[in-house]
Amino acid sequence: MAETLERISRVFHVLLWDTAKQIALSPLQIQILLYVRDNPESKGGVGRLAAEFGLTQATISDAVNTLIAKGVLERRAGAEDRRLKLLKLTARGRRKTERAAEWMERAVRLLRVFSEGEKEETLAFMLRLVRRFHEDGLPTKMHVCPGCANFHLGENRGRDTQYTCDHSRKTFRLTQAKFNCPTWRPHTGHARDLDN
Ligand code: SF4
Repeated sequence: MAETLERISRVFHVLLWDTAKQIALSPLQIQILLYVRDNPESKGGVGRLAAEFGLTQATISDAVNTLIAKGVLERRAGAEDRRLKLLKLTARGRRKTERAAEWMERAVRLLRVFSEGEKEETLAFMLRLVRRFHEDGLPTKMHVCPGCANFHLGENRGRDTQYTCDHSRKTFRLTQAKFNCPTWRPHTGHARDLDN
């Protein structure tokens, strides 16, 4: 099982490297562009990115400065707090990011042959696995609901088990879990909140 997951992860790496070569960016630069695209109001700049990717601030800073020099990324004042500098894609950066996303879209196309039920079950399993990793102190660097202290088992149990978020007060199914959530807090303790 672990070997299969590792092999699948390797396939994703190959797809990422192929795209990186085609558009003359490094895999890390691609990941930064996609992160900025998907988290446009993300605060914390380089520090947040370093935590997200599990790298040093110096490494991220180099990659961000290169992207700024290439004219695909820029630092702009935040809409709510002008003193806060947020990373934003330039128009050129948006075009480049569309191409950068191709590596993931290829994988998404392949996933279309599977039924919704199969995908939901697999995603639920992966999210449970992330929660276990968090509890075991493994550095997943994934800010996703099952590894968050705000995440709890809700009312319904069984196939449609509902979960709640202490922060947003919302109820949702496991497959609706949020990724890269800005209000994520590290969870510690046992995974009983995930048991059906
Ligand atoms: S704070 Fe964010 S990550 Fe945590 S449970 Fe709520 S939505 Fe999920």
